[in-house]
Amino acid sequence: MDDWQRFEREHVWHPYASMLQPVPAYAVHRAEGAWLELEDGRRLIDGMASWWCAIHGYHVPELNAALRAQSERMAHVMFGGLTHRPAAELAQRLLSITPGDMQYVFFADSGSVSVEVALKMALQYWQAQGQTQKHRFLTIRHGYHGDTFGAMSVCDPVSGMHHLFASFLPQQLFADAPTAQCDAEWDEAQIASFRQQIEAHHHTLAAVILEPIVQGAGGMRIYAPEFLRQVRRLCDDYDVLLIIDEIATGFGRTGCMFAAEHADVAPDILCVGKALTGGYMTLAATLTTGRVCQGIHADGAGVLMHGPTFMANPLACAVAGASIDLLLASPWQARVRHIEQRLREGLEPYRAHAAVHDVRVLGAIGVLEMTRPVDVARVQQRLVARGVWLRPFGRLLYTMPPYILDDAQLDQLIAAMGSVLDDV
Ligand code: PMP
Repeated sequence: MDDWQRFEREHVWHPYASMLQPVPAYAVHRAEGAWLELEDGRRLIDGMASWWCAIHGYHVPELNAALRAQSERMAHVMFGGLTHRPAAELAQRLLSITPGDMQYVFFADSGSVSVEVALKMALQYWQAQGQTQKHRFLTIRHGYHGDTFGAMSVCDPVSGMHHLFASFLPQQLFADAPTAQCDAEWDEAQIASFRQQIEAHHHTLAAVILEPIVQGAGGMRIYAPEFLRQVRRLCDDYDVLLIIDEIATGFGRTGCMFAAEHADVAPDILCVGKALTGGYMTLAATLTTGRVCQGIHADGAGVLMHGPTFMANPLACAVAGASIDLLLASPWQARVRHIEQRLREGLEPYRAHAAVHDVRVLGAIGVLEMTRPVDVARVQQRLVARGVWLRPFGRLLYTMPPYILDDAQLDQLIAAMGSVLDDV
């Protein structure tokens, strides 16, 4: 281990980790295509796309060029009172590809912050209408929306961090999540708990917030589009705004550009992030409709009360614009469909293994839910020995690879997932 690695291990925190008993962190030297190259020269196929982000893989010529060109002009300027072409052009692209009738864009610096902004938009909307009693949020169990406090308050109350911060967190409302099976026959009972909550509490609800079709970090659950359609209808019936969090699912991951399209549902407020910059930089956005925007200003004085220092960072906006262009110019739908088919064929046979509880696939997402928690350090070590990078959590061994993975890489990934089942 080099000196810098020893220093890093002793002084630098990793996500959801103990500083005193750290699990090993593998040192990456460079990355190209779907490969991560470690400091010791080993090469790993990336099955995680750096947590849903690196949809085009790494060291992408078009994105490098956009970043280089923008850095020659300016890396950053404040967005208060100043503006720039990369932000305007990115907003234009986003409004043209997002579902529903989005007309206004707020650039945030991470997914969690974009969720905070979405919550604020909903709260300010009702405040400006004089309906200050509408200040709570309804969501479904097993959700995940980020690690800041507002976002945490709408994460799953059991698997989220509520127990640690209960005394500080705003109390929200939770309905049962639909079953984790996209293609199961629709049963009205699935919406019963949600219906009951919205009927009982709509007069105090500012908005419903949920992840469309795929619940990610709260359990990698895939649910029926009909659930989302009914949620939209109930929100309309009871005059509650609908916030759709496409931070993980956006930009083609589920086979549609945005997962809400599976249900043909339009949000009132939409969050995007992660793959927005093709995994190059941190950037997210909160988009909304004319109705919500005008509503926020209805009292004549309304200004949206948020303004991060690095709002609409020009480097991030330029690379995001290039990433969307690259995605739209690529056969992304065919690629994602192909990955889906191969994941289905490759992972489905593992269902027969005694350690496997469920197998779920949608788009470029493949999930093995095990019967017991995965020993992350041990399983990761075995996967790395087989040339594959995955980061299991809880009972889940899953992949959401870059879309550019070739068949040989995909097969190696699927085989590696199968090879560790006996260890789990
Ligand atoms: N919403 C969803 C659905 C997410 O998956 C995540 C990140 N895993 C977030 C919000 C938070 O995004 P960030 O980590 O960029 O703050």
